[in-house]
This record gives sequence, structure tokens and C-alpha cells, in this order.
Amino acid sequence: MKRWLAALLLLPGAVWGEPVRIHDLETGELAALRERYDFWGADWRAGYAVFDLDAGQRSKLERAGFRITTDLRRARELADWRRATEQADLQRGAGTIPGFACYRTVDATHATLADLAAAYPDRATLSEIGDTWQADAGAAVGDSIGVLVIRNASSPHPKAPLVIAAAQHARELATAEIATRFAELLLASADIDPDIGWLLDHREIHIIAQANPDGRRQVELGAGMWRKNHNETACAAGNLSGTWPGIDLNRNSSFLWGSFSSSDACSQTYRGPVPASEPETLAIQNYLASVFDDQRPASDLESPAPAEARGIFISLHSFAEMVLFPWEGLGGQNENNAPNHDALAVLGRRFGFLNDYAVGRWQLLGPAGGTAVDFAYGEFGVAAYTFEVGTDFIQSCESFEAAVWPDNRDALLLAAKAARRPYLEPAGPEITALQVAFSGGVRLTGTADDTRFFRGNVTEPPDDPVSNVVEMRIALDLPEHLATETWTFPVAVPGQQADFDLLLPLDIPSEGTLFVTAVDDTGQPGLARVVEYTDLIHANGFEAETP
Ligand SMILES: [Zn+2]
Repeated sequence: MKRWLAALLLLPGAVWGEPVRIHDLETGELAALRERYDFWGADWRAGYAVFDLDAGQRSKLERAGFRITTDLRRARELADWRRATEQADLQRGAGTIPGFACYRTVDATHATLADLAAAYPDRATLSEIGDTWQADAGAAVGDSIGVLVIRNASSPHPKAPLVIAAAQHARELATAEIATRFAELLLASADIDPDIGWLLDHREIHIIAQANPDGRRQVELGAGMWRKNHNETACAAGNLSGTWPGIDLNRNSSFLWGSFSSSDACSQTYRGPVPASEPETLAIQNYLASVFDDQRPASDLESPAPAEARGIFISLHSFAEMVLFPWEGLGGQNENNAPNHDALAVLGRRFGFLNDYAVGRWQLLGPAGGTAVDFAYGEFGVAAYTFEVGTDFIQSCESFEAAVWPDNRDALLLAAKAARRPYLEPAGPEITALQVAFSGGVRLTGTADDTRFFRGNVTEPPDDPVSNVVEMRIALDLPEHLATETWTFPVAVPGQQADFDLLLPLDIPSEGTLFVTAVDDTGQPGLARVVEYTDLIHANGFEAETP
């Protein structure tokens, strides 16, 4: 055990501050506080931000006029967590983080990904994209960063990429589990849910579940609030106020590096000595460069990616119940919006509808320079988002199972669908209900909806692309842009939400897969929903329902 960690454990209660709520912060105030103090997250509905402050920090801020209350709930959770981590040595080998049966350890995460690659050899490939700082230093505990690539190797079709990276910040427990479960869901469901199965034929989904394994191992060993990587040369001794060594990997990217981050090595938002100084940062940056097309000049901040750009990057963090998008590393107001700002907002608000998160940029948390999301969008022009999931670093398993996982699962499934045209198709209608039956022929009924946007209290851009659904398009066996057989039907009663009842031609094959798309009155088709029909329908009138 490192000397400083031993010192921390010998002085429980004496070296940490406590979680507090700072109320009614302006965005600029929040941005300034984030650079100086240990920012945990925010509750935008209740109007407070959570920081960990010691008594001196708190009284200083109170004298400056900030309204601060002790966060009793999170303080209690933290005390419980510390008790659990003190028992950690007794629980080694459980495969989950002490106190949290729902969150796999680094080793268990990697074992799961390896098991998936072994169980689905044609659909999942596990590879290593680079070493951690500890591995580079030759430490026995050092890891390499793994990525599981999910796609059907036998599919000849182009595959638009979705990359999901989690646990870049070690203490954000829920994020790695979301990424791991998403991989499990895709592979387990591909053969039984045609609306997931087609994604493996036409998408390439890259899961980096543990982007900072060195840091996460420290969390597992009892340094529960560890955030950064484990670069021992940065703040080598820790500063005995709950801050551990390391560099903030989400301030270390080479894009918009240097501002809205800290130059203090002991800060939780220490950006590192130079851009992309850390092996974990380089591993992910090089990997993204190998996956994404180059669709934007990285040398400027004004050129948009083309509307037809493909690819999505999602960086999973916690906690604030927010979806954030570029530029994360520029302050100011709308003049510093990303050139694809409005389209980024549209897809972001589709996510927001599913996870009930606020969606925006500068309005929400204030800027952060050198983030992975700005790198992905800035370098490659892909649609890139930070999901600040949940309401806690140490999110309870009960709330994780009830809300954090299912809500973000649905948002990630939408991301997989949207990865081919993320700046276009999310503006079109969604298919919210779809049934196939045999009734005088193969009959499709359901509902298309162009109203499913949510943004929280954000005011701009002011309008969502809500318009009337006017047309349904059906493609046989392939997405419409690849299919040789397609049918178009006008919607009987156009509306922002419209029901449809379509009888397909009688001479269609006895079984197949139908890609169903709705088109709005601007001519924009939305994301496809996919259903299978079989000769069972013809023979028996069997009805398949996917509400
Ligand atoms: Zn984070």
C-alpha cells in the first residue's frame, strides 16, 4: 500500500471534507468553482450543485455569499461506502465493487467482455488499444485498455460506428456497468429481437467499458473518491484532503486543451503537463482515429461536418442527469456553439426524451477543456455526447436497476440506430408502436411520432423539428438505402403523432424482415424500426406484436 494511502486510511474523518449542496449557482459561478474545488455533480431540477468541501473551504465560500447546505443523503451514503470499502479485503473475489453487487470490478468487467468474445466469435472481438500509466511504468497492477467490437462479421454491408467509452473517471461507478450491460444486451438479443439484430449487420459498436482501469482499481481498494488516472508523478504524495495523484483524463485530450481545467497537479481537474500526456488518453485518441472517418478540419472551430456525416461517440460520466455536447471546452454563449450545434441538439433531445435528462452545452455545467467528446467531434466531425448519468457517484443499485440502466439503455439503442446519419435522421419521426399480422395479407399497424424531444430547462435552440408525419416507407430485408424492394404509403390522417395501417402487396415473399420508416412533411425520414414476418403469419394468422 502506498504511504499516502495508508496515511489517509489512518485518519478517517480527519482528512476528507463532506458533500455539500451549493444552491442557485449561475453557470459562470459553477464553472469557476469547478476549477477550484472537488465538483461531484448537479441536480438541475432542484437547482443545486454538489461539491466536497472541507470546513475552511465551506466557510470561505459562505463568506463570499454562496448558500451552502450539507448534503445529508450523500454524506450518509459516503459513510456507508467507506465502511464497505474498509471491508474490501474480506470481499476480494466477489467480482463486484464492495457494497455494490450491481457493479462489476475491473477484472470482472474484462472477464465478461472476454466471455462475450468467446461466446459470439462471429459477432464480438476483444482487443487491447493501449496500456495504462501503471502498465507503462511496469507495475504489476497495470492494465491495458480493452475494447469489445460488436458487429456481424459475415454481413457485407457498410457499418456506421458507435463508440461508447466509460469510467474515464474512476469513481463514477455506474458508467462501466452501463457499457458492459449494453454489450451483453446487444449480443444476447440479436437473434431474438429483429430491431436489435439488424444493428449488428449495419453498425459497428465499440465498447470501452473501463477507460481508466488504474484509477478504478484504486476505488476498489478503498480510495472511493478517486477520479483521475494513476500517474504517480502528478501530486505524488496526495494533498491529504481527499485528493489523490493523477491526471484528469477528461481534461487531457489534445483538443481545446489548456483552459477550463486546472494547472495544479493536486486538483481533481488537473489537465496534465502537455496535451494528451497520458497513455490512456493517447490510446483512446488513436483508437477513435482508426474508427471514425475524418469529416471535419480539426484545425478550426467553425467548419461543420457535412449533414451526411456518420458516427457517434458517447462518453459516459456521472452525475447530473444531463446530456452534454460540444463545444464543452469553450465558454461564452451562442457565438461559441459548435458548427453542427442545432443537429447535435436534435439528437441530444431524442436522448433526453428517453433518459429524462437536461440537454445542452454552456447552459448546464459550464465549460471543461480537453475532453474526449470535444476531441471526437472536433477531429472527426462525429456526433459526440457526454452522458452525465444518474444522481450519485456511488449510485445505489436499486436506483441503477430501476432508472439509470434502463433509461440509458434505451438512449444507447437509439444512438446505435442513429449512427449512420446522426445529423439527419433524428429529426424525422420515430416509430413508437409496430405490429405485424396476417389479415388479408401482411398488415403493418402502429404509430409514428415526431414529438419525442426533451431538453430540461434549456432554452436554445428554441425549436424542435416537430412536424406532421405524412408518409410510411417499408423496405424488404435491408435498410431503405440498400433495399431493392420498397413500398411507400401515405398516412391516412397526417399528424405529429399518426397511426398507420398498411397492407403490403400480396406477392411478397413468405417470410422476411421489414424496415419501417416514417417521413415528416419536410421530407425527412426518421430512424427505422424493424420487424420480422414469417410464413407462420400466412398459415395461422399468427400475430407478432412489438409495442
Ligand atoms: Zn466524469
